[in-house]
Order: sequence, then structure tokens, then C-alpha cells
Amino acid sequence: MNDIQKEFLEIVSEVRAHLEYQRALGVKSIEEPPLDVQKPIVQPAALSLSKEKTVAALAASPVVKETAKTVEAGRPATLESIREEIGDCTRCKLHKGRNSIVYGEGDPKATIIFVGEGPGFEEDQQGRPFVGAAGQLLTDIIEKGMKIKRADVYICNIVKCRPPNNRNPEPDEVEACIGFVKKQIAAIRPKVIVTLGNVPTQNLLGTKQGITRLRGSWQEYEGIPVMPTFHPSYLLRSPGEKGKVWEDVKLVMKKLGMPVPEKK
Ligand code: URA
Repeated sequence: MNDIQKEFLEIVSEVRAHLEYQRALGVKSIEEPPLDVQKPIVQPAALSLSKEKTVAALAASPVVKETAKTVEAGRPATLESIREEIGDCTRCKLHKGRNSIVYGEGDPKATIIFVGEGPGFEEDQQGRPFVGAAGQLLTDIIEKGMKIKRADVYICNIVKCRPPNNRNPEPDEVEACIGFVKKQIAAIRPKVIVTLGNVPTQNLLGTKQGITRLRGSWQEYEGIPVMPTFHPSYLLRSPGEKGKVWEDVKLVMKKLGMPVPEKK
């Protein structure tokens, strides 16, 4: 049973309790609602029905159907529905060279989301984010450094298709795709977002400031704390900068109340 179904059942059982209370008071029928709906919410016969039949009676009611639609419309999409919305995407030119759409992976209820820029060769082959050399380094930061499982965080990218020769995604490509990572963030509602390098940092925060300036300082996206740090590919080229990323990661761990080992 999904969350909406559970919530619907809770509403139904509250309505049913209310109806039973009304019946105990001697109420025999329900007034028509002051809406443009001609039928009563529930026929009086439903008062004596089983839970299943009451659910069915309520589900058939136009008032309940309209309410369910309103509730649904106000909810953030789920990771599955966002993936469905992306479909076999041709919204930007990156689709022409891709092998697979790299949507993202991890815990749908993760407290931390890592956002990279876009898939590389290995990611495009496997359809999974951060599985090449930079991905191994990110996995080490998560598992050996933070001492949590990679599967317990969520990892995704600003663009879902590989830019040719691993170039940075161009503005039109980011524009076509960034709405999806924003929806992924809204669906997961993490406690912290870690942006890896310039592309996710600048595009999520809407800034032109560079990562060297921003890394290690708390920023905010839609009320969620954001920690910008260097991209693992940069660390592969400049291993001397790993200590700075570890400092940034320690700030994340402190914010989340995780035990922070002194040395990695
Ligand atoms: N670099 C990224 O930004 N994302 C990946 O998924 C892999 C490498």
C-alpha cells in the first residue's frame, strides 16, 4: 500500500467514526453537501456497511474523488513518477549521443543527496551515477570517510545524459534537465545536499561564484542546507585537495549529528 492509499484509509476511518458517532446520536441521513454535487457524500445505507464497503462507497463519491485529486496535486511527485515523466527523453541534444539515461540511485528517504554534474562514460554504459573512477572516490568518501553505506544516501546529477567527451553541460542542456533534479530533491526532502563542483553548485544555488570560493561554507536551496565541495574528478587530478573535501564532509556529519572521526 502506498502513502496516498494509507492516508486515504485513515481519512476513511475518521469519516466512518464520525458517521457512527452521528448514527449513535440518532442521525439517519447525511445532508447534501453545499457543493455543486447532487449526491450525498455517502448513502445512509453505508452507515451499516463493513469497512471495505464503506471505503468503496467513499471512493465512488464525487466529493471524495475531487478531494483526493486536490491532495494529490499538492504533493511532490515520487521518484518513480519523476522517472516516468522523463521517459525516453529527447528534450535536449544530449539524447543523441547517450547510451542510457542516468536517473540517480539510493535511498528514497536519504538524509543526504550528492549532486554531480552529469554522467561520464562508465555511468552512461551502466545507467548508474558515479560508478567510474570519480565514483569510486565518492564511494570511498561516503563509506570509508563518513562510515555509512552508499545505498543509504542518494546520488544524482544535474543532467541525466552524458555530455560528449565529458564536457560540462551547456546552459540549454541544464535548463532542459534541472527541473528533474529539483523534483528529485523535493521528493526525497533530504536534510543536507552536497553539491560536487561548479556545475551543480552554481545551477542549484543560482550563483556565478566558483567552487573554490563557496566550498566549505553552508548555503541554502529551498530551505535545505547545501554544502558545496570539490568534484571527485578534480580530486583525482589534484589529490592534494582531498583534505579540503574531508573538512567539508566533516561539517556535513556534524550538522547531521553523526560521530566525526578525527582522521579519515
Ligand atoms: N561525474 C559526475 O558529475 N557524475 C557522474 O555520475 C559521474 C561522474
